[in-house]
Amino acid sequence: MTTIKQQDLIQSIADGLQFISYYHPLDFIQAMHQAYLVEQSDAARDAIAQILVNSRMCAEGRRPICQDTGIVVAFVEVGMGLSWQGNMSLEDMINQGVREAYNNVDNPLRASIVADPAGVRKNTRDNTPAVVHTRLVPGNTLSVTLAAKGGGSENKARLAMLNPSDNIADWVEQVVPTLGAGWCPPGILGIGIGGTAEKAALLAKESMMAPIDMAQLLARGPATALEELRVEIYQRINRLGIGAQGLGGVTTLLDVKIMDYPTHAASKPVALMPNCAATRHIHFTLDGSGPANLQPPSLKDWPDITLQGNKQSRQVNLDTLTAAEVQSWQPGETLLLSGKLLTGRDAAHKRMIDMLNKGEKLPVDFHNRFIYYVGPVDAVRDEVIGPAGPTTATRMDKFTDTLLEKTGLLGMIGKAERGPAAIESIKKHKAVYMIATGGAAYLVSKAIRAARVVAFEDLGMEAIHEFEVENMPVTLAVDSKGSSVHQTGPAHWQRILMKK
Ligand code: SF4
Repeated sequence: MTTIKQQDLIQSIADGLQFISYYHPLDFIQAMHQAYLVEQSDAARDAIAQILVNSRMCAEGRRPICQDTGIVVAFVEVGMGLSWQGNMSLEDMINQGVREAYNNVDNPLRASIVADPAGVRKNTRDNTPAVVHTRLVPGNTLSVTLAAKGGGSENKARLAMLNPSDNIADWVEQVVPTLGAGWCPPGILGIGIGGTAEKAALLAKESMMAPIDMAQLLARGPATALEELRVEIYQRINRLGIGAQGLGGVTTLLDVKIMDYPTHAASKPVALMPNCAATRHIHFTLDGSGPANLQPPSLKDWPDITLQGNKQSRQVNLDTLTAAEVQSWQPGETLLLSGKLLTGRDAAHKRMIDMLNKGEKLPVDFHNRFIYYVGPVDAVRDEVIGPAGPTTATRMDKFTDTLLEKTGLLGMIGKAERGPAAIESIKKHKAVYMIATGGAAYLVSKAIRAARVVAFEDLGMEAIHEFEVENMPVTLAVDSKGSSVHQTGPAHWQRILMKK
């Protein structure tokens, strides 16, 4: 009988999570490189280049691909012939592995999990607990698929209980444009069909753990109805022109994965989940001979891409900026920011708005400043700050008007589009909104020369920091007149792609 030692599983989970925090899967690198080669939109191509350069830097420096190091999801197949040495439950062993991975001193990962999600939302500080799905199967091995799923893409999961006669591709094409770009495309769409509502969701999540093989599928042609559906959805979504970071372009999806299961004659449950620029998953099997032996990829596997930089980029001194200067910037223009900016995301915004509503003075003066929506990873060694990419801006939309109205803020930096109310408010206050590339967090952090916490220290990674940046690249996404590149860019590319 095969015996799995408790410590071997704990070690394997910890090693696996460290591994996927800095190594993209090879199939993802290859598919993203292909997307880079065929991209025709300059803005989208530049965003993909940043994702690939960031990926290589993370592999070299063994630092997280994204500041959001994810919620841990484990699919575990337990051989029914196995015995165990140790007294912890399977979930406790996995959670101990998560704890050790996220508190690793050489590469600490950001703890993003909050307990009491409907109440005080207190950070558990070690990223536990993981979400564990277990199956008992015949055999004598333990098979583990481990993922660290980013919140921005997880938030875009959707479920529909379709009528049996409804067309699944129609539903997907209707839903994807409503997701915005907060899931950091290009990426993979996982789709679960059948079973019950919860089974469809689980199938969608599990489907995206498979290797990317759309290029091979297109080359050989679909052999089954599900493969035909994969190709149809892939082509229909890419024709929408959403593109990298929602800026408009030819590649929105790298692949579409589908898993299905028999369902009730009256039902057709369909779940949809995107996986983002920080696609992170790994598979290993334990057979009682010790912890998993994870082989690092070769750096030769990454394409040799140099960021072109844009000679036309406008140099911006944040410390001397005026409202008039900000109002002269054009949508889609690239800017290189230097000087001081403030940070803040969900929890800091909520606290500031509560204070303003009570007539209290904020601990930081936002007049003529910019706020960057970010929750960075802690620094190690000689770093100023850990990976510090932008978070989804729409979550801050409901706070935007009050902040612009009451603080004299000049504008905001985040990722993806703004909603109609936030755009209206930006226009009303003649402010602007800029984007940095989601999923290029380590690359972005290299532009940060100094960092200090200036308020709300108790919020951990959500505290308000002051960053001093040098040549931080951003794109003007909403100008002071309310024109948004997330509307104009995809519309332009959709017109071109629909004609083909
Ligand atoms: S790439 Fe985007 S969606 Fe994915 S974890 Fe990072 S910020 Fe979140």
